[in-house]
Amino acid sequence: MVLPYLEEAIKNLFKRPATRVSFPKEIPPAAPDYRGRISYDPTLCVNCGMCMRVCAPAAITKTVERNEDGDDVITLSFDLGSCTYCRTCADFCARKAIKLTEDYVMVATNPADLIVSGTFVKKKPVIPPKPPVQPLPKAEA
Ligand code: SF4
Ligand code: SF4
Repeated sequence: MVLPYLEEAIKNLFKRPATRVSFPKEIPPAAPDYRGRISYDPTLCVNCGMCMRVCAPAAITKTVERNEDGDDVITLSFDLGSCTYCRTCADFCARKAIKLTEDYVMVATNPADLIVSGTFVKKKPVIPPKPPVQPLPKAEA
């Protein structure tokens, strides 16, 4: 009995790969306007929180720590494992601090490798000194 497709299978053993791309040695460019790995520029961020409000899968988190000068050290983290690459956060960021790049190679065995984060310092507000209290003029009798 002749196995179906046996002749074709043997011929293909000696042919070049149909894709002609030796991935991952050779990484073909993404399609135009591809929504891939998020990049976040904390120097542009103003901590408005809009990106977190519009992110449906809650892939964006924020931590705030206080440093020794009393300033807030703010870190925004994007979990690429939860992200759906919808780009809503980037569209809503008035400061253009978020971009979706054309990088689509995001294989990871460690969940931490799928976190994109950035940190900036929000200075504590400078409170002007109170003016000295002026004594009230004495009321005339
Ligand atoms: S990344 Fe943009 S939307 Fe998100 S907190 Fe910063 S400025 Fe606001
Ligand atoms: S691309 Fe969409 S899912 Fe991903 S972090 Fe932004 S809003 Fe959330």
